[in-house]
Amino acid sequence: QPHISFDDIHVDDVTFAYQQDDPILQNLHLHFDKGKVTGIIGKSGSGKSTLLKLLMRFYDPLRGVIQIGQTPLTNINTSNMRHMFAYVTQDTVLFHDSIENNIKIAKLDATSDEIQAACQKASLHDWIMSLPEGYQTPVSELGSSLSGGERQRISLARAFLSQAECILLDEPTSNLDVLNEGIILKALQNEKERTIILVSHRESTMKIVNQTIKMDQGRVS
Ligand code: ATP
Ligand code: MG
Repeated sequence: QPHISFDDIHVDDVTFAYQQDDPILQNLHLHFDKGKVTGIIGKSGSGKSTLLKLLMRFYDPLRGVIQIGQTPLTNINTSNMRHMFAYVTQDTVLFHDSIENNIKIAKLDATSDEIQAACQKASLHDWIMSLPEGYQTPVSELGSSLSGGERQRISLARAFLSQAECILLDEPTSNLDVLNEGIILKALQNEKERTIILVSHRESTMKIVNQTIKMDQGRVS
């Protein structure tokens, strides 16, 4: 499949259920403008994370369609999907390798300058420099001493380093203090070329969005 260029995302009458349960998302109509920041808020269980999972194609809708421009997601191959989307959640998978290589998986040919720039945006650089072996520190040596916030920032650094045209963030700053959150939100706001979809409970996070979607029981309220 040739490279598909990214465009607005259209969610058209999407209904979704995990099993035979009642639908988690119901007749959802949404539009995400290319290059804009959209915030998604709503009570716990309202379907915010589920919506991001459908955008990542971890699941497909039961009814309705999600399209990038004119192209249904179901017609886009994995290579194009990987190119388009970066996904940041609270659970970051780390490999038994250096911090640097753990970030570099987002762009295998990245230079050290590019990696540093991404880490600065993710407010991670100073912390890495404070480690015994800096960027070469094996994550296994840090092991369980890595905090939730540090893991989260590694995941953010990957997203900044990647060339994904759309970044999906599920509570990306939930474990971060106000200072780190501020740096990261500013960096996200500066990603003018990228489409950003940001799920968050925090009011402070919503300051940078161009559009807010409020979800309630699987619908937009
Ligand atoms: P939170 O703010 O707590 O993260 P959320 O808005 O992200 O909530 P979802 O995680 O999308 O909500 O969950 C929506 C509903 O779907 C919930 O009722 C949840 O229990 C259910 N659900 C989520 N994941 C699954 C799954 N894998 N299998 C079955 N039900 C699920
Ligand atoms: Mg969630």
